[in-house]
Amino acid sequence: MPLRVNRPARWSWRTLLPWGIGVLPLAFGLALMQWQIERELRASSYATTRQVVEQVERILDSLASTAQTLLPLAGSPCEQAQLALRSQVTRNAFVRSTNLFRDDTLYCTSLFGEFDEPVDAGDYVDGKLWLMDGNSVTPGHALLVYRASAGNRGAIVTVDGDHLLTALRLIGPDEALHLRVGNAWIGKDGAVQQGQPPAAPLAEITLGSTRFPFSVHGGYAAGKREELLLSHYPALLSLLLVLGVAAGTVCRWQIRRANSPRAELRRALEADEFLPYFQPVVRKGDYRWAGAEVLMRWNHPHEGLVRPDLFIPYAEHTGQIVAMTRALMLHTAQTLAPYAALLEDGFHIGINITADHCRDLALLDDCRTFLQHFPPGRVLLTLELTERKLIEATPVTLELFDKLHEMGVMIALDDFGTGQSSLNYLRQFKVDYLKIDQSFVAMIGGDALSLQILDSIIELSGKLGLGIVAEGVETEVQRDYLARYGVDFQQGFLFARPMPATEFLQALASRPGTVRLPQDTPPEIMRG
Ligand code: C2E
Ligand code: CA
Ligand code: CA
Repeated sequence: MPLRVNRPARWSWRTLLPWGIGVLPLAFGLALMQWQIERELRASSYATTRQVVEQVERILDSLASTAQTLLPLAGSPCEQAQLALRSQVTRNAFVRSTNLFRDDTLYCTSLFGEFDEPVDAGDYVDGKLWLMDGNSVTPGHALLVYRASAGNRGAIVTVDGDHLLTALRLIGPDEALHLRVGNAWIGKDGAVQQGQPPAAPLAEITLGSTRFPFSVHGGYAAGKREELLLSHYPALLSLLLVLGVAAGTVCRWQIRRANSPRAELRRALEADEFLPYFQPVVRKGDYRWAGAEVLMRWNHPHEGLVRPDLFIPYAEHTGQIVAMTRALMLHTAQTLAPYAALLEDGFHIGINITADHCRDLALLDDCRTFLQHFPPGRVLLTLELTERKLIEATPVTLELFDKLHEMGVMIALDDFGTGQSSLNYLRQFKVDYLKIDQSFVAMIGGDALSLQILDSIIELSGKLGLGIVAEGVETEVQRDYLARYGVDFQQGFLFARPMPATEFLQALASRPGTVRLPQDTPPEIMRG
């Protein structure tokens, strides 16, 4: 129901809200899943790192125990100790080589026997552990060296870097893991590097050994979260997607429903937004106000005053026009009743009625309620029925019109000349007035043929004994022409435009000879 000629904005909250609502479950679900995944990643990162620490400690335990076994031999001649050195290498799976030193010199090794190479205790973290990037036997190949000393003598035991790599690679295959000893570290690529190991972007953790001077740095690469999201929760993701679409669709439907013409009219009715405007009808001769037609206006909170032709068709289509008319009649009666003194006896109040309103006898009650607001005989209620939508002659409608007449309610056939009511129709419903449609009045001053139609309508109504109201009188030429033909009542912009109640009452109050104003008349009407 467009209430304005210009189109509404394309991107309003009404179009955006369903999208927002649709995205909500998805966003909420994703956030929840991310949180869950991050928790899982942190727990798994901790467990893996812990396992690596334990595995390296196990290796170092084995190295330490070998070194302790060999320590008493340190200082003895190499040929005496050599066999023991080699036997430890054979016995212990992790031990690659065993060595003895004395006075900062490596003098005996399991591989070469007698040897002579300087040893610097400063290379070892806490004098115990050194992560080397290779030695003279295997240059560029990582080596972890354990040193045990007693005074100026001691044993040195090495483990191949491959054992460390196995721990890093097998325990945390999809994790970023680094083993750090002092200022050196080794990652899964096996290269020993100096400095700080790189920080893992996700679930980063550092666990140090309580027994040996090393630490393990764990965590996950960026993208792991998304990878898990897609691999672990495909069903949940699809469900969220479906939920999002469903929520968006339901929201859209609800908004549409809430904004449907029907809902909008219902809301307006409850908010009492339909107002009566009054257009005076003047009688022939002195052109005094003999009555007024009540025209509905919608005082819309955003659109302002809305013309009836923009919403009456919808109201008729949905059947809400009956309730709206009832409310308008009540509103009119309550507005005019306190100023009934301003109205001449027999003042016509014309109300536009739709055919739907005549299907049962409820209209009788509406008219009775309306008339009860006024002193008897003060107003003459006239129901205007449009000729374009004729009422079916059923026993109920015939009874309705009989009873209306008994109550003194008049019937006017609106827009006369635009439909095809037969003479029989006029008789059946005991029509009192014909309202000549404004299109015929507009012909006055035009060609002779058109005028003949107007003339015959006037003539016909005279023969049938019906009163005539001419609508849409805009010029004096029209007024005088109609007056010459004896048309009983005239209505049109020439006399007055439809106006709000206050203005209408003001105008009534300002007429010469008006008396009997009630005590509590508001000043704005008194001033009129
Ligand atoms: P209508 O019953 O034929 O009412 C007369 C219409 O002609 C009014 O338009 C009025 O403002 C307009 N009019 C009066 N004098 C002149 C004039 O000199 N020149 C021109 N050009 N127009 C004039 P409005 O108020 O816009 O109403 C339009 C139509 O809406 C009404 O035509 C009537 O069919 C319908 N309507 C208005 N109020 C109600 C209502 O309460 N119930 C129902 N069912 N229909 C209503
Ligand atoms: Ca009318
Ligand atoms: Ca009309």
